[in-house]
Amino acid sequence: MARNIDSVCRMCRREGVKLFLKGDRCFKEKCAIDRRAYIPGQHGQARRPKKASNYQLQLREKQKIKRMYGLLEKQFRNLYEKAARRPGISGHNLMAMLETRLDNVVYRMGFAKSRAQARQLVNHGHVRVNGNKVDIASYHVRVGDELTVRDKSRQNVNVMDAMESVLGRGLPGWLQVEPASFTGRVAQWPTREMIEQDVNEQLVIELYSK
Ligand code: SF4
Repeated sequence: MARNIDSVCRMCRREGVKLFLKGDRCFKEKCAIDRRAYIPGQHGQARRPKKASNYQLQLREKQKIKRMYGLLEKQFRNLYEKAARRPGISGHNLMAMLETRLDNVVYRMGFAKSRAQARQLVNHGHVRVNGNKVDIASYHVRVGDELTVRDKSRQNVNVMDAMESVLGRGLPGWLQVEPASFTGRVAQWPTREMIEQDVNEQLVIELYSK
């Protein structure tokens, strides 16, 4: 399967914001955005900020959201098309569909420090949904679904570390977690207000609907 092998910190620097792709490191002074807050590349520091065109704004916002959730262009575009076919506001549908991907839910519940780590947990079969093994990161959870970390995997150093460090950062209102039993539940469908991501998804809709 194709995958993006670019340096993740480089992606943050290109977008000019923290995309939180590296777990704990993103919250420390080692974060590349804090140390080198300019566009990567030979001429990154020399570039003068110009007034961005509408297209540039739309493109950068799309790249930002896509990179944040770790999707490739085709996956992201397919998700947009599904979101646009659903009733309601397409941008809100898109954000809800991104949030309800299994890898993102595992990350949000605190079983992993980053979405990349969450995807690996899912792909390697450490996660159960309603008692069944689901190893597809793009699987969409539904309201009422119960997620657990497989018994054998609860001693996994990465999972224990993640539970300790991530839960202190808060849980979205649409999820419930019982850390003692490594179990989480999808309490409701996420509304846009519940998704605390500083992005303007409407720009993505404008870009793709041209
Ligand atoms: Fe982005 Fe995290 Fe790297 Fe900072 S440490 S640049 S937030 S991936």
